[in-house]
Amino acid sequence: MKQELNLKEISQWELYKSRPLTICGPCSAESEQQVMETAIELAKLKKVDIFRAGIWKPRTRPNSFEGVGREGLKWLRDVKKETGMPTAVEVANASHVNDALKFGVDVLWIGARTSANPFAMQEIADALNGVDSMVFIKNPVNPELNLWIGAIERVAKAGINKIGAIHRGFSAYEHIQYRNQPKWLLPIELKRAIPKIPLLCDPSHIGGAKEYLFELSQKAMDLNYDGLMVESHINPEVALSDREQQITPVQLNDLLNKLVLRDSVSNNLAFSDTLGELRTQIDLYDSQLLELIEQRMFVAKTIGKYKKENNITILQSSRWEEVMQKAVLQGELKGLSKEFINSLYKAVHQESINHQNRVMNS
Ligand code: PEP
Ligand code: MN
Repeated sequence: MKQELNLKEISQWELYKSRPLTICGPCSAESEQQVMETAIELAKLKKVDIFRAGIWKPRTRPNSFEGVGREGLKWLRDVKKETGMPTAVEVANASHVNDALKFGVDVLWIGARTSANPFAMQEIADALNGVDSMVFIKNPVNPELNLWIGAIERVAKAGINKIGAIHRGFSAYEHIQYRNQPKWLLPIELKRAIPKIPLLCDPSHIGGAKEYLFELSQKAMDLNYDGLMVESHINPEVALSDREQQITPVQLNDLLNKLVLRDSVSNNLAFSDTLGELRTQIDLYDSQLLELIEQRMFVAKTIGKYKKENNITILQSSRWEEVMQKAVLQGELKGLSKEFINSLYKAVHQESINHQNRVMNS
């Protein structure tokens, strides 16, 4: 089917007064008191734009705290009355959407487990038809860009134009430093597909622990993200969900104060001149790189022809092993990481094999 929706048309809506837009509050609404105390402390900071709290919690395993349900919507309505902060909840089906809207919730977000499910996304999109709320869509748990774009597309097709994306990282099977793999290239690619979509980072669910929140938030700011969703709880030690990653409002204040915010453009002429010159150099090296690779492929094709004439297989693992080891050593001397050399050489090698394959089978 032809793509009817031009995602590049999603317009930059009035998202925030100053960067970063901040959506903060506890992982879960637990009690009337916990919600209100957290909200009052957050409102005092005068840095939190939107108050968040999960009411329906999608837990990976049963028997974990699954949220207080509709009851919590009244507490959010009180928070708005008391502090003036707009409120946000996660919705995972049509009845969540209807309940949240009935109680005057301003901002809805769709969680990572839901955005991975096109049926659930379509049900939510249908429930949103004709509604004028802000809707944020978290990346799906698995690193598939099209799934994320598809979820955004479904909501856009329902007529919602205040849409934002939240980067919360991707599940990993192996043990990694963070709770989820950030894979920063995916949100960057999302921005390439939908340039005007506001992009927020959720360092709480990427990091999974307090100590990573600042470095992740700073990185997001350096990559020109529009905002942050950070979990903050009046007393994280007794939180019923995501205990390790929640910070107190005071700690949130420190984090936000410490962030260095850089401009994405400069009107300093000398700076622009120097940057322009350096970028010209980069472009030059890039085209030299491509020319060298082209030459390398030419030699690979010649080898292919030669192997064909002599009836020899394309792949010779011992030779490849040798090339890779030498490159890793050379790379180290040049300050290039083993991971980088590995993926660069794998890609170059694959392209060589493709070229040789064509020669062999022509
Ligand atoms: C949350 O924001 O509390 C949440 C459940 O997030 P995610 O969908 O990113 O896991
Ligand atoms: Mn959480």
